[in-house]
Order: sequence, then C-alpha cells, then structure tokens
Amino acid sequence: MLLTIETSHRPATDIGYLLHKNPAGLQSFDLSFGTAHVFYPLAEEDRCQVCVLLDVDPVGLVRGRGDRSLDQYVNDRPYVASSFLSVAINKLFSTAMNGRSKERQELIDQPLPLKATLAVVPSRGGEDLLHRLFEPLGYSVNAIRHPLDEKFESWGHAPYYTLTIEHYLPLQALLQHLYVLVPVLDNSKHYWVSEDEVDKLLARGESWLPSHPEKDLITRRYLKHQRQLTRDALARLAIEDDLDPDASDKAHDAEEDRIEKPLSLNEQRIGSVLAALKACGASTILDLGCGEGNLLRELLREKQFTRIVGMDVSIRSLEKTSEKLRLERLPDMQRSRIDLLHGSLMYRDERLAGFDAAACVEVIEHLDPPRLRAFERAVFEFARPGAVVITTPNREYNIMWESLPAGQFRHRDHRFEWTRDEFRFWAERMAAAHCYSVRILPIGPLDDRFGAPTQMGVFVR
Ligand code: SAH
Repeated sequence: MLLTIETSHRPATDIGYLLHKNPAGLQSFDLSFGTAHVFYPLAEEDRCQVCVLLDVDPVGLVRGRGDRSLDQYVNDRPYVASSFLSVAINKLFSTAMNGRSKERQELIDQPLPLKATLAVVPSRGGEDLLHRLFEPLGYSVNAIRHPLDEKFESWGHAPYYTLTIEHYLPLQALLQHLYVLVPVLDNSKHYWVSEDEVDKLLARGESWLPSHPEKDLITRRYLKHQRQLTRDALARLAIEDDLDPDASDKAHDAEEDRIEKPLSLNEQRIGSVLAALKACGASTILDLGCGEGNLLRELLREKQFTRIVGMDVSIRSLEKTSEKLRLERLPDMQRSRIDLLHGSLMYRDERLAGFDAAACVEVIEHLDPPRLRAFERAVFEFARPGAVVITTPNREYNIMWESLPAGQFRHRDHRFEWTRDEFRFWAERMAAAHCYSVRILPIGPLDDRFGAPTQMGVFVR
C-alpha cells in the first residue's frame, strides 16, 4: 500500500520539516500490523514527494487467533488503503496532524499546493463516492479504475481505483481528511471501532466534518455501521455545529441571500487566488483587469508581496480603485509597493514583463472570442510571469442560480462562459503552447453534477 504526497511549494523540501521526517534517507517504523516505510523519491527546491509504504503482514494479523479461514490469509489488506493507513498516518505524522512544527510553525496554517496519490483505494460506492467525499472539501479528484485482471478484460472492473486528489490547503488538513476518509472508502472491517473512535473522528474532523454534505455517510462508515456509536457522533457533531458562530449565522444569512451569495463567492474567489499566489512564493504581482481593486486591497495586506501592479482598460475603474484604497493617503512605504496602470490586455506591454505572478480574475469572459488570441500572447508570451492565476465562471453551474433565466450569462458584458471541459481544454492548450504546467481548481460550493460556480487555472512555469 502506497501513499504519495507531493508539493510544489518553494522550498518544497519544507514538507520534511512539517512531517518531521528528513528527506535524506529511508526511515522504517514497526507498527502492530506490519512495517511503515517513509522515503522521498524526489526532494528538490521546487518539487518534493514523500511516500508512505505500508507493508501489512496478513499472517501476523491472524497469528494466535483460533479462526484460520483462507480469506484471513488471502485478502486485499496488504495492497489497499484502509484503516491501517490511518493508523500509520496518525503514528508517523502525529505532530503535523496536531498542528505543530518545531522548525516551520509558520507553515502549519498556510495553504500549500498539495497532491496526494493513493495507489489503490477500494471504493465500493464506485467512482461517484470518491468525488462526493473529496470535492466538497475543495479537491480536484482524479480516479483511474482498475480491471479485475488485466489479462481477462471480459471479467470487468474491480472496485479498486488509483486516486489522486489536489488542492491548496494546509498539510494538516490533508492528513486529517485522509485519516477520516480512507477508512470510509474502504468500508470493510476496520482495524478499530470502539468508543474512543468517536473522539478520534471528532478530533480529526472537527473543523470540516460538520459542514460536509456527506457527514452522515462518513460518520456511519467510519464507525462501521455501529448504530449507537454513529448516533452519538452525529449528535455531537450537531451540537458542535451549533456552537460554531459561522454556522449559527447561517439562518441569518438566508435572509440576505440574494446580495450575500455573490458577495461570499467573491470572497472565496479572492481567498483562493490569494492562496494560489502566496503558494507559488511570488513577491511581485500583476493584477490584470483589476477592476475596482478588490484583490489589490488584499494583496496590500500581505507583506510577502513587495511590488503590486494593477492594470485595467477602464480609467473609471482605476480612479475608483485609487479612491477606495486611498492611495494618495498611504504612507510612503506602502505607497511605493503599489502602482496602477492604464492599459489593455490586447497589446504587448513592456511594463508587464518580469513579474513573479499575475492574477486575471473574472476578466477573460469579457473579451471577444476572436480577440482572445491577442490576450493569450500578451499574457503568456510577452508578459510571461512565473505563474498565472486565471478565474472564470463555470457555465454549467448557471442552472443553480435561481435568479438567472435559463441560457443567460451571469453578466451582461460577458462575451462567453465556458463549461469545465471548455476551460480545461483551453487551459491545457495554453500551458502546452507556452511551457507552463496547469492545475484547475473549483471555487465555491461544489455540485455533484455541475461542479463549482467558479473555475481557477493555476499556471506555473
Ligand atoms: N478582476 C476584477 C474585475 C473583473 S471585471 C474583480 O475580480 O473584481 C472585468 C474587468 O476587466 C473590468 O474591470 C474591465 O474593465 C477589465 N477589462 C476588460 N477588457 C480588458 C482589456 N482588454 N484589458 C484590460 N482590462 C480589461
């Protein structure tokens, strides 16, 4: 059983400090059900991969027990991700799981670009379950289903998948999600299930489980259908949900719905873009099509960004930005960090060259499709920042906005809105043509069928 966690945070090898496992060598740990090995196939400044290899000993597991049926020896336990992996994660990475790091405490809460691959997960609920469990937490999910036997195609598929999940989030959160959700996927006899599992579930799920749309299923399966335990856990989750000030505001929010909804999506979008920009380690940032400066305001708050340039084709927007951010009244030090430029993304512009990263938030859909080519060259070929973060609406989600008549775009000035496939296709073509790699992430509440309202492409050179 193999779990790989990879990051492109810089320096990527910081993940070794977070996990308290030195990238330099192989380390092995004895566990009651076998051995866990931790090693780094790749440990470089811009990419680091850490592997957990579990060597489960099925014979050792049954030794000393009376019942010796064949399936106790011949089973999938050594090969698939199961509760053994959760036990191992808890043992090997307990400091990280508990949110502590001796040498990199500042990275504990910081969202990092993380990708986890589980070589084999059993998902008896099919691929759909993988999406339902991980996507509400913001992951992009890729699952490859395996045949029962490669030599005998007609035997059909096995309930086993290679699962890759990607997201910008703190490492602690990724470990907690895996800890709880891997046994949920497996759903066969767990290595545990006792009263104190309720506590463990609550401890590891505290910050995210109460608002997960599948919290009932997760709790039920994690506690392996033990009704009383499940009831206790759900009751406690409900209480904790009530104690959460954000949650108790929910009822209130409903009243302000129409205004509040787009506002909170806007906030989520800015949060995600900001996290992506921070994660790529950028100091100098362009905000292309900055509008009235919503992102610029947040960029100014982050010390990491030493030079910030907002650019827009609309002079009126730039004037408003200048007023809103009170640029004239900023202290000199702050004022020198930011500039506003009037310009158009349709043209090559020397002033845009040499930046670490560029954001282009909800802009491309305002461009006429025949002119998109000019934009592509202006950004990816001429300005050519180290990273580009682009967001745009996901047209498929429009059906979810009650107030939007069918077939219409969200904004009168939108020239097009792309489906997820259309955006992915465009983004991958851009990346390939201009030597970037790209990752696509959802922003906002995820719907099973239609995805999230906003889609974000993070391009890195
Ligand atoms: N990024 C901002 C504004 C999005 S609205 C935000 O998220 O709040 C789209 C913005 O793109 C508008 O401010 C518009 O003036 C700008 N825009 C449209 N065409 C442009 C072009 N060719 N060059 C630069 N900016 C453009």
